[in-house]
Amino acid sequence: MFVEGFRVESPRVRYGADEIESEYSYDTTEVVPPGDGGAGWVVRPKSVTYNFKTSTSVPKLGVMLVGWGGNNGTTLTAGVIANREGISWETKEKVHKANYFGSLTQASTIRVGSHNGEEVYAPFKSLVPMVDPNSIVFGGWDISNLSMADGMARAKVLDINLQKQLRPYMQSMLPLPGIFNPDFVAANQGARANNLIQGTKKEQVEQIKKDIREFKEKNKVDKVVVLWTANTERYSSVVAGLNDTMDNLMASLEKNEAEISPSTLYAIACVSEGVPFVNGSPQNTFVPGLIEFAITKNSLIGGDDFKSGQTKMKSVLVDFLVGAGIKPTSIASYNHLGNNDGMNLSAPQVFRSKEISKSSVVDDMVASNPILYSPGEHPDHVIVIKYIPYVGDSKRAMDEYTSEIFMGGKNTIVLHNTCEDSLLAAPIILDLVLLAELSTRIQLKAEGQDKFHSFHPVATILSYLSKAPLVPPGTPVVNALAKQRAMLENILRACVGLAPENNMMLEHK
Ligand code: NAD
Repeated sequence: MFVEGFRVESPRVRYGADEIESEYSYDTTEVVPPGDGGAGWVVRPKSVTYNFKTSTSVPKLGVMLVGWGGNNGTTLTAGVIANREGISWETKEKVHKANYFGSLTQASTIRVGSHNGEEVYAPFKSLVPMVDPNSIVFGGWDISNLSMADGMARAKVLDINLQKQLRPYMQSMLPLPGIFNPDFVAANQGARANNLIQGTKKEQVEQIKKDIREFKEKNKVDKVVVLWTANTERYSSVVAGLNDTMDNLMASLEKNEAEISPSTLYAIACVSEGVPFVNGSPQNTFVPGLIEFAITKNSLIGGDDFKSGQTKMKSVLVDFLVGAGIKPTSIASYNHLGNNDGMNLSAPQVFRSKEISKSSVVDDMVASNPILYSPGEHPDHVIVIKYIPYVGDSKRAMDEYTSEIFMGGKNTIVLHNTCEDSLLAAPIILDLVLLAELSTRIQLKAEGQDKFHSFHPVATILSYLSKAPLVPPGTPVVNALAKQRAMLENILRACVGLAPENNMMLEHK
């Protein structure tokens, strides 16, 4: 059974004129080591009451993409227009209608409960009021000056009959000039760089701040979220005195230090403006000084790297294997792709960023099971990416997982995953901006605290969508996909006073 929406009736939930208030019992366990009052390990169930306040005044949202004219940027913009305008198009297979498949918020459901023994589901987005993607105003920057219509054609992602219908809406959409530094990307990217902000790094940051303010003003939007979907950059060096603290980063900006990457410059501009900034690529945009800046300004930052194809499968499969008591010992992951992202990744220093972000994805699952892995032991894990122009945006990911099973046996799983890259990434970008906006409307406080506070500015709530989730210093990183989804769903359930989904179904036992 499916319901479009619902309202929670409970003494612990109050729907006000412009906010939902809930009281929620957060049940966890405290683990006490031997010696602290007992002979062996002791586990104590613990219950803490939290209060949540969610503002229901949904803003008119502007989304500014860095790399707007690229494959992801044009595909997302086109997809939202196609949904908004109710566009359909014919291919040799059938007549297709615009949809939001692949978006957790727009195309997945949650279980609400049961009615007459039948399970009742509702849209994920019905949990708390969220921005309707069809109402988003898009804008952004690109170092290439092509219009969104021409960028869409260059990307070769969408069917031609759809492109023809979208062109009139997109040909007047022009990206703002971007900050470019050839030192941070592959040399092959220079050819498209014809739309650039000049000046010192400080002046470039000032220009981005001005762009955000003007976009907000011109489009009469209440809030802006900025997301990086531009080229992967190489890692920037983290050096004491350069970018290791907020003050050092700001001083380096004044000195026009070469090692501040373009993505960090956009992020500095956003944090200064109090505008959420999400990083969809693997590089270390969030150097320690930037993280400290965001925490000090309480301005949301989130990332890194969209979790779209191969890594998403990995964070499901390895979780399943290790959770089943099977020991993955070797993971070999090959990719080939032929889009501009692939061409950029063919430079070794840029590929290295992707390699790092793809590598750590099984760490939490391996660490969770010392019955299988001795201390320090880790599966062999290799990642290869090659540029093959012919396959274009249709990335191929091939993976071999070898695991040790019962009594010296071996199990090998081989996957061939055709990931239409930008069609997988675009709905993820949508979720990232919608959830980033939503999380700025939620406030919470634990019992004993007298004031409500917002979530930590380093937005772990976005982990489900990130290959290498950025977490506040000292916070465990969770990569397992099911845990990430449960975290997000359960937090939103708590906002309306609903218990986490426990799957016990005791009423049928
Ligand atoms: P793309 O190369 O088609 O688009 C990137 C765009 O950014 C280009 O138009 C380029 O001109 C522009 N650009 C580069 N540097 C810029 C700068 N400093 N300022 C403004 N614009 C700039 O790539 P894509 O396929 O759209 O992917 C974008 C990013 O998303 C890549 O870093 C990629 O690694 C990452 N990513 C993609 C996926 C996926 O499935 N598509 C998954 C994870 C991560």
